[in-house]
Amino acid sequence: MEHWSEQGLRYLKGVGPKVAEKLLKLGLKSQRDLLFHLPLRYEDRTFITPVGSLQPGQRGQIEAEVLHAGVHYRRQGRSRRVLAAKLGDNTGVLSVRYFYFNANQQKLFEKGNWLRCYGEVRVAQGELEMIHPEAERLDLDDPSPLPQTLTPIYPTTEGLHQLSIKRILGQVIDKLKTDGIAETLPQDWLDRNDFPDVSTAMLRLHNPENKADSELIATGRHPAQYRFIVEELAAHRLALLERRRQIRSRKTPVIKPASRLRQQLSQSLPFELTGAQLRVLDELMQDFAAGKPMIRLVQGDVGSGKTVVAALACLPAIESGYQAALMAPTEILAEQHYQNFTQWLEPLGINVVNLVGADKGKKRERKVGQIASGEAQVVIGTHALFQASVEFNRLGFIIFDEQHRFGVDQRLALQRKTRDGEMAHQLIMTATPIPRTMAMSIYADLDYSQIDELPPGRKPVTTSIVSEQQRASLIQRVAKSCADGGQVYWVCTLIEESEALQCEAAELTFESLCRQLPQLSIGLVHGRMKPAEKEAAILAFKQGQTHILVATTVIEVGVDVPNASIMIIENPERLGLAQIHQLRGRVGRGARESFCILLVRNDLSELARKRLEVIRSTQDGFAIAEKDLELRGAGEVLGTRQTGEMSFRIADLMRDQKWFPQVEALAKMMQQPEYAEVRAELLRNWVGERQDYTDVG
Ligand code: ADP
Ligand code: MG
Repeated sequence: MEHWSEQGLRYLKGVGPKVAEKLLKLGLKSQRDLLFHLPLRYEDRTFITPVGSLQPGQRGQIEAEVLHAGVHYRRQGRSRRVLAAKLGDNTGVLSVRYFYFNANQQKLFEKGNWLRCYGEVRVAQGELEMIHPEAERLDLDDPSPLPQTLTPIYPTTEGLHQLSIKRILGQVIDKLKTDGIAETLPQDWLDRNDFPDVSTAMLRLHNPENKADSELIATGRHPAQYRFIVEELAAHRLALLERRRQIRSRKTPVIKPASRLRQQLSQSLPFELTGAQLRVLDELMQDFAAGKPMIRLVQGDVGSGKTVVAALACLPAIESGYQAALMAPTEILAEQHYQNFTQWLEPLGINVVNLVGADKGKKRERKVGQIASGEAQVVIGTHALFQASVEFNRLGFIIFDEQHRFGVDQRLALQRKTRDGEMAHQLIMTATPIPRTMAMSIYADLDYSQIDELPPGRKPVTTSIVSEQQRASLIQRVAKSCADGGQVYWVCTLIEESEALQCEAAELTFESLCRQLPQLSIGLVHGRMKPAEKEAAILAFKQGQTHILVATTVIEVGVDVPNASIMIIENPERLGLAQIHQLRGRVGRGARESFCILLVRNDLSELARKRLEVIRSTQDGFAIAEKDLELRGAGEVLGTRQTGEMSFRIADLMRDQKWFPQVEALAKMMQQPEYAEVRAELLRNWVGERQDYTDVG
């Protein structure tokens, strides 16, 4: 029989289709999910504060009478109705306002009613007020008792009240109290580490017993939390290891590492490979030789030369009779890879084909035909390669460039393109530096290599922070550099995540630069242009036909124009540090002395200045990534927010790094056969549906 915790939420009182939908929005499907929906914070509602003693800035609970209430209409703003009231007890008066409210709430605020309210106190126009307090009717003859313990506050969503969540959750917590849920960690491990069992820990987090409890919880230091933090990270790691085990047990293309073509290309390159490039290539060849599917992440800072490593690594696969595919996150990048690969590989007699979303009709048909027949030996493309209508003849090796933009799902989609159930070798390349311990936890399914050396002769990029007022002199400086034969990137950003606005900003800057620098030729590239126009703009810049390229952040990854020596970034504070670092990496690639200029507004906040100072003072991608991590949280650095690949319920990769060794040990222990049962329970609890990705069929 199904355990009660597996049951859906509709069995609970107060959960109709509408509420179920809201709960689903919070990711809650089963009663077990609900138990894992832990409080965000706790509030102390065990006492009442007289209105006259309320302190601004504090949260407080009052009992007071409605002296006056009414609904006003505002002229502007999103919601136009406002419910405003004055409440008072015999010590003072307080204003209350609601910008969203329903009929029930309005009814509470009838003159003469007594209410119990909880909310944050602030001062507006010299008066104390609460905005959107939680309010309930108080029966003076028979007041409902105050809570004896701290009140948990749960994450919620629009249209679902805190109290509704609590009522629903209360039913599940009652069952937890009587029946408990199955243990998900080995008992001996719990004993050894003095961690509470699953049901006790769970109960403690929902109903903290005292203040000390909740203070520990608020800072992530309660033993009940430790248990779940380690548990969640271990579950994640086990799932990844399991995925790895499954992949590695699959049949894989036999690729002989010894390659005549590779030697040929190495000799014809205009530069010597760096020691780091050679070492990583060696590691890739060892993977081929091992006869198991390669799953390797290669990290190398911007400009470390990952592309040529990828091209060289393709050659043994091609010589062994397989096709290779290279996936890029943007069409611009795909186009550039296509040009590089063609230049390197066509002289060796290799047929390189590019397939992007913009390819339509006959053109697309022809390319898809070549991919299916095997005539296309190297295929370069964007997500267009994932489409079901694209069938490879004999795909043996897949390279993902700038991996952090792809999710696990997309990686799997391409794996399905292999013949005979063979698992293609996979190489994943990223410029995003990930602290090693973290990489081990997040990418436990991958092997890890690092190109930790830049090609020789790279000049450091001088970075400066320049204020908007100096724009005119900056433009003169640009003019001078261009007259000298140099080239300049001018990147526009906007705070809104709106691409349309970004493009507009770029267009405006483009127009004003054209007016101010009529003697120069200026190009424009942004996301809303047609692919052909984008390509043409980049090509013109590459070939030196344009002096300045005005762009949005579309050029963030990959664009390579060694002659460009000035990178101007407008409003850089709107970007992540790693992103600015990527952009800066576009210059300093050639012989010219290079500059990165961060063009900022005057009213920059102290924090923003601090962040930009990090960029100014170092060019070490790792140091920048760690700072970025600190300031923005792990999800954004890793780019997983878009893919939803890595969301933790309790663990926080930044805060909980100290647990990584423990996590590793626990995962290792739980891989032993005697823990198969708890392990299954653990994975079901934490990974659940995400376990789909262990099914790589
Ligand atoms: P990234 O690692 O950021 O993808 P690229 O592969 O685009 O870097 O390489 C940046 C530039 O460095 C390219 O112009 C490339 O041809 C050049 N390059 C790569 N390896 C070397 C090397 N060993 N010596 C000199 N230049 C190199
Ligand atoms: Mg690159």
